[in-house]
Amino acid sequence: MPHTLDPALRRALVERVRYYHELGIYDFYRREPALGHSAEIGSAAAGSVQAASSASYSGSQSELREEMSARKSAAIPVVAEDNIFEIAAPKPEYGVADPATALKLIREDLGDCTRCKLHEQGRKQIVFGVGNARAELMFVGEGPGADEDAQGEPFVGRAGQLLNNMIKAMGLRREDVYIANIVKCRPPGNRTPERDECETCSPFLMRQIAVVKPKVIVALGAVAAKNLLAINAPMSELRGRWYDFKPAGVRSNDSAWPGARLAVTYHPAFLLRDPRQKGEAWKDLQMVMKYLGIEPPKKAAE
Ligand code: SF4
Repeated sequence: MPHTLDPALRRALVERVRYYHELGIYDFYRREPALGHSAEIGSAAAGSVQAASSASYSGSQSELREEMSARKSAAIPVVAEDNIFEIAAPKPEYGVADPATALKLIREDLGDCTRCKLHEQGRKQIVFGVGNARAELMFVGEGPGADEDAQGEPFVGRAGQLLNNMIKAMGLRREDVYIANIVKCRPPGNRTPERDECETCSPFLMRQIAVVKPKVIVALGAVAAKNLLAINAPMSELRGRWYDFKPAGVRSNDSAWPGARLAVTYHPAFLLRDPRQKGEAWKDLQMVMKYLGIEPPKKAAE
């Protein structure tokens, strides 16, 4: 059974493999670890996180997602250990200057994806992402729902309408931003995507982020936030502050891109269930607007 590496160690490994690729070295072999050491990694480095993660993805209901306890909400935004070399390998979009073309290449690379079990659990289509390929602002949700699955576009149902209103209140249009999800196929019954599904799918999101190079990413909801940040904390702690974010395991065509700043707010579906939290979400968006220098339209600001 594969064990999970510490995220920092994994990133360091990915960087090292990429460095070797840049030197033209592509073949690697793996030395078997000493038995004692292997057991040590499993228990000391990853064991507690792994245990918490399995708890988080098994059968939780959507109502509980936004305010999951720290232990229940752990998630690691990393790919499975066996995928390190795949992630570090050159990608078709590398070196492509036009971001819209680069996104198309990522979509082609994704293909009729069967990489995780969501492909055989009733999805109608893959929901890749939509919006401005040069957007300064990117929203990342958890996964497609029924409407998104039917239309092939993220955030088009009732939650999507609310997201549109939130974007409009910021003085922006939906087509100004880029919108995507952690997983690109609808989990059956709108369940929370499971850890292996997030780990398998999110490298494609990382590539989309590296191509769009947003100034700000807004993580919509606890699942998105924890997958992007690998922070084990409840929403009450995740919101209201900035995080520095660089997509793991990929490189941007723009070496000058410093990465994005990331903010966390409530998922629109949660706000539909608990409209009292809309004011809190608006505070999060105002923080984003201030950073981006966006003046809200008069009506929204009043
Ligand atoms: S969720 Fe992502 S990894 Fe899984 S089958 Fe769909 S596109 Fe592929």
